[in-house]
Amino acid sequence: MPCTALPPLPDPVAAERIEALALELQRQDPSLTLLRESADRVRYSRDCHDYSPVLTPLLAGRVAQLVVRVRSVEQVMAVAGACARHGVPLTARGAGTGNYGQCVPLCGGVVIDLMGLNRLRQLNPASGVMVAEAGCILANLDQELRLQGRSLRLAPSTWRTASLGGFIGGGSSGIGSLRWGMLRDPGQLLALEVITVEPEPRRLWLEGEACEPLNHAYGCNGLITALAMATTEAVAWWQWVVDFDDWDSAVAVAQELPATALLLNSLCLLEAPVAASLPTPGGAPAASGHRLLLLAAADATPLLEAWLRHRGAVSVWHQAESVSRGLPLRELTWNHTTLHWRSQQPGWTYLQLMLPRPTETMLASLRQRWGPEVLLWHMEGVRSQGENRLAGLPLLRFDGIEKLEALIADCLSLGAQLFDPHTIYVEDGGLGLVDAGQVAAKVSNDPLGLLNPGKLRGWLERNQ
Ligand SMILES: Cc1cc2nc3c(=O)[nH]c(=O)nc-3n(C[C@H](O)[C@H](O)[C@H](O)COP(=O)(O)OP(=O)(O)OC[C@H]3O[C@@H](n4cnc5c(N)ncnc54)[C@H](O)[C@@H]3O)c2cc1C
Repeated sequence: MPCTALPPLPDPVAAERIEALALELQRQDPSLTLLRESADRVRYSRDCHDYSPVLTPLLAGRVAQLVVRVRSVEQVMAVAGACARHGVPLTARGAGTGNYGQCVPLCGGVVIDLMGLNRLRQLNPASGVMVAEAGCILANLDQELRLQGRSLRLAPSTWRTASLGGFIGGGSSGIGSLRWGMLRDPGQLLALEVITVEPEPRRLWLEGEACEPLNHAYGCNGLITALAMATTEAVAWWQWVVDFDDWDSAVAVAQELPATALLLNSLCLLEAPVAASLPTPGGAPAASGHRLLLLAAADATPLLEAWLRHRGAVSVWHQAESVSRGLPLRELTWNHTTLHWRSQQPGWTYLQLMLPRPTETMLASLRQRWGPEVLLWHMEGVRSQGENRLAGLPLLRFDGIEKLEALIADCLSLGAQLFDPHTIYVEDGGLGLVDAGQVAAKVSNDPLGLLNPGKLRGWLERNQ
């Protein structure tokens, strides 16, 4: 459920202590970039949590006291050690595109910008396993992998700006989830290089299950400097835009299509008013009804058009992603849908749900209670626990927290699972359960509790 108050937090550290830390860092490594100006500190303390009218007031005014930009693992270790010795909170930051205030420093301290760590260290040609640094921008990394015939399995729709470390630290799923499932599914993340926050920081290489507690932990239990991940064969994806007059047929196709043998990477379904308000990719025409956006392999082309036509759909445009100009189709999906919608409807917000199967019963019941003037559907096809499912990212008019809670309660009672985008806690953005492994990793890697304070509920509640 939405989070309406911050947990008790320590006061910001005294200015003199920050100054002493800055001086120590500068002496140790004069090439480190330290940002002290207020405008810089504010800029590096923000992310994209303004999609939530619940989080926006809660996180207002939370600003780092110092920003440090690093370019090497040694520099990360220097910052981690200095923060531990001076008892200063430390919050990791990639590109700052998270939606839940993940990298907003709740009690000031240092924000460490890791985007300078941006090398693909290794790609094993036999296994396709890559080792890449945390600050790699995902689209750049994918381009580099493609030179060797490989590609990322998963990427958020923000892949042109977001970092690999931030995706693991704060992301969950995205383009590719239709094929490859969720970021926390075993088999995506294979190993991590991690720096601990202690007076003498350790550089750890965690493999297999040992790295799971750091996957989607908001950087609360270790600073990730490099990641080993599985990749997939590079496929030249085609963008497809498909329109429907009838909503039920559109929902049926969104469920049937992933069960065919057609190779698909992404499936996004938009209810007509949402589709009409969004920009179109490349040279595609404006929406004439409900809209399905697909990324499909070239060998799907001969069958797809006829397959869709027989199910009441009209394929209005398709084009290879590699030659497309203008807005990429990817940037209309996932939370880019929310972004575009909110640019015209700033009073709206969204939810993140795993929809039950069959989905139609839930949609009909919700529609009876919540009309299109307050609730509109955006869905993404995903593979969850080995099954094809629809994730719902419905858009909703924000009429206060009570109405939001009532809508959430309706969704839950109809069998949906909530991944709450209106909470600051790691656990409540997921299944709501404290993960003892995440807390144990914090005890080991951040014994002073300095990393991103206030976000890991299990740590806050450990002595209660
Ligand atoms: C328009 C829009 C669309 C989006 N679409 C998607 C989507 O499709 N799928 C999805 O999952 N998310 C999506 N997001 C959320 C976000 O863009 C992604 O999760 C992205 O991968 C975050 O990367 P970042 O580099 O911006 O991370 P940041 O926002 O900088 O950080 C995210 C979290 O990870 C931690 N962190 C960052 N780097 C490290 C590190 N090296 N070590 C330890 N912790 C670290 C931070 O402290 C923070 O808690 C979207 C957001 C927007 C605004």
